[in-house]
Amino acid sequence: MAANENIGTIYKVAGPLIVASGMRDVHLHDVVRVSEQKLIGEIIELRDDLASIQVYEDTSGIGPGEPVYLTGEQLVAELGPGLIEGIFDGIERPLNVIYQMEGDRIRRGSDVPKLSREKKWAFEATAAVGDEVGAGDIIGEVKETEAVTQRIMIPYGISGTITRISSGEFTVADTVATVKDAKGVEHEVTMMQKWPVRKRRPYFEKMNPQEPMVTGQRVVDTLFPVAKGGIACVPGPFGSGKTVIQHSIAKWADADIIIYIGCGERGNEMTDVLKEFPELKDPKTGLSLMKRTVLIANTSDMPVAAREASIYTGITIAEYFRDMGYKVAIIADSTSRWAEALREMSGRLEEMPGEEGYPAYLSTRLAEFYERAGSVVCLGKDKRRGAVTAIGAVSPAGGDTSEPVSQATLRIVKVYWGLSAELAYQRHFPAIDWLKSYSLYDKKINRYFDENLDENWSYRVGTVRRILQEESELNEIVRLVGFDALSEKDRLTFECARMIREDFLQQDSFREVDRFTPPKKQTEMIGAILKWYESGQRALKERAPYKEIMDEAVLTQIARMKYEPDSSWQSFIDDLYTSIDALFERLKGVDAE
Ligand code: ADP
Ligand code: MG
Repeated sequence: MAANENIGTIYKVAGPLIVASGMRDVHLHDVVRVSEQKLIGEIIELRDDLASIQVYEDTSGIGPGEPVYLTGEQLVAELGPGLIEGIFDGIERPLNVIYQMEGDRIRRGSDVPKLSREKKWAFEATAAVGDEVGAGDIIGEVKETEAVTQRIMIPYGISGTITRISSGEFTVADTVATVKDAKGVEHEVTMMQKWPVRKRRPYFEKMNPQEPMVTGQRVVDTLFPVAKGGIACVPGPFGSGKTVIQHSIAKWADADIIIYIGCGERGNEMTDVLKEFPELKDPKTGLSLMKRTVLIANTSDMPVAAREASIYTGITIAEYFRDMGYKVAIIADSTSRWAEALREMSGRLEEMPGEEGYPAYLSTRLAEFYERAGSVVCLGKDKRRGAVTAIGAVSPAGGDTSEPVSQATLRIVKVYWGLSAELAYQRHFPAIDWLKSYSLYDKKINRYFDENLDENWSYRVGTVRRILQEESELNEIVRLVGFDALSEKDRLTFECARMIREDFLQQDSFREVDRFTPPKKQTEMIGAILKWYESGQRALKERAPYKEIMDEAVLTQIARMKYEPDSSWQSFIDDLYTSIDALFERLKGVDAE
């Protein structure tokens, strides 16, 4: 084929959108290279021989008449060893490698492979010649980092008998096995798969999420838990703590793999991640958190089209690790910035705008992303299970969630952590509004904790909810008639609600001892608060004096629970129980005259 055969011509340039003519024999979502600079673009609309191309790089200086080269490929993610600890842009270009090669400014049209073709990995075969294999079957392993072992799987579309397989040092492009199919055709299997990012990866069966994904964030785990394979959103105005809570989850959630997408937010937030994560240690493995993390960075100063692609690249990588049987969490900050990229591209295409200028397909696209989360039985004979849990931040202007992105998100997600500007202003963090937030997984997860952690879990969580609800009702009364009008019984409830808010729900992400609380400690903390409260109510009935129930020493101990480290909290709370018993023992027979 002559070099100039598969070529179109630029007809119009509108920022990141280029229209090219002469585009025959191409398909929607084909990748093209634009101009002699070979900028990477993707066809997003076709009309006759005119193709609209969204270009993933800066198009300044590019003009009509320049060539467009066809690649015949779709926008694919490369999946294999080399993902973990990587920092990629929205189309999976390895930023760490590019920075090393080219410094801060990425040269346009950079031709760096997504996964290194030079690095060798120790492949250890777990299958043998003669084995019958199909899509998803694991044929070997690569220890990618101390924390992650990649399981090398037969790619979708290949099945047959293994005719060759060997352990050894290989690059991702080397053949590690060959599989002969029923027609006698031999297929070469490498450690790398390619998958079109806009298409979900197949699985055997989707399951209902059942188990909690423990986050160590007390307000989340007790009141608004997320399941492994669940979907959650964090809407909130600027400065309300969306990024901090997502970082906390990325750091401490019990997931095997974390995919963190910095999507259109400020660059310095990604820098924070890059500085912090390598230094932080996973409480389970003691290893650096980067050793299980993949970062995708498309900050506000990077091309807008690549931002549109970033969430698909991210979820494809997440699905790939899920397919190995891992529990993956994917975190996107912020889906609003992603939606803005979609809106910008739609505007350039001169599509009919929907609400607030967003395209009519906004909610479909959002759903397509979130629906790729889930708990599944993977492809492969061993019927292993994997999960992708998705958590997206939503940043509506002024915090007003009546706008289209929030509304579309709400229709899809099962967990809603609504951040409140007022709580953030009062420095109550995480600023999750306990009256407005919800989790549709809570019943299942409460049952799980009842059975696997503490039989009192559901009862305690229910009581906490009731007390917070009562507080909000009492607040109305206080507003009308003042605090003094409350009965002692109501005052006690008020005080208990204050404890729940300040001593339990508030959690400082920047204080080492407080940033992660295991569920066992969470239930014990609530247990102590409720023991004091319920004993107090009983004592009031027996006419004990209110001010003695408010025992200074006990109240101080309750406030200190969260700052007791792993090594001592259990004995501290045991002592607290003893103090509470002693207090109410003493109050027996003391009569409030
Ligand atoms: P957003 O992403 O919603 O704009 P951030 O996550 O950047 O907001 O949070 C803004 C600030 O709020 C943080 O810099 C921090 O000072 C404070 N903050 C938020 N959450 C917490 C928390 N859990 N613990 C302590 N401080 C917090
Ligand atoms: Mg933020």
